[in-house]
Amino acid sequence: MEIKIFEEKDNSLRFLLKDVNHSYANALRRAMMAEVPSMAIDDVIIIENNSVLYDEVIAHRLGLIPLKTDLDTFVLPEECDCKSELGCSKCRASFTLEAESVDEPVNVYSSDLKGESDVVPVSGNIPIVKLGPSQRLKLELYAKLGRGLEHAKWQPVSACAYKYMPRVTLNPDNLANPPEVIQACPADVYVADPENKIAVRDELACTLCMDCVEKATPIDSKKTFPVKIEGDENAFVFYVESTGCMPSRRIVAEASKILEKKTVNLADLVKKGLE
Ligand SMILES: [Zn+2]
Repeated sequence: MEIKIFEEKDNSLRFLLKDVNHSYANALRRAMMAEVPSMAIDDVIIIENNSVLYDEVIAHRLGLIPLKTDLDTFVLPEECDCKSELGCSKCRASFTLEAESVDEPVNVYSSDLKGESDVVPVSGNIPIVKLGPSQRLKLELYAKLGRGLEHAKWQPVSACAYKYMPRVTLNPDNLANPPEVIQACPADVYVADPENKIAVRDELACTLCMDCVEKATPIDSKKTFPVKIEGDENAFVFYVESTGCMPSRRIVAEASKILEKKTVNLADLVKKGLE
């Protein structure tokens, strides 16, 4: 197995995963989406709410705010040794939220959440509710680690997808209509070339849509077809975009740890079954 990172930004990662099969790539994707834990608000105590939004709508909105997650400090409530329904400082983070409009309307944002731990919203600009004159909101909130398979608010990724590694082969000598082929590609894979009239600009951008192949007209149909697109079935280009809760790189690492644990468990079970 081989991993090559193509591009890494604050919250996104594009990498090549080579020498694995389709099942493995999909297992990794699913582990990232559904099993890597992240923090989300799960309990909201409404002390006062006379805004236009119902209590449950506000609670739902609060649950969907992505929070900075530190997997080295916090543990899943079911794995915490406190075994308490109320939780402790290792499995729960608390916040308060107080906002009021006196005479001018007031927008309540995620930055109004006040807490004592390092668990904070990834952005302070997420709107929660708009308060009209004499409306008030007073809440007590509790966040905990959870998994995407239980509720999408715990999904650490906002995008997680892969495609086969594209391979584009050009034979410009036998291509009658290079400008049309360049134009046909929705992903701008090709570029005009002074010598061959067409060249590959960005092979990775190819989505294997085959529009270029359909458009290509060979000069001599007996010779090699001018455009060939193939997807490598043992190499995958992954794109992982974190919600901001933790770096994408960490999400990939955590997902592979989860897969490893599952494989070891399965091996143990098989061994026991055979004994
Ligand atoms: Zn605990």
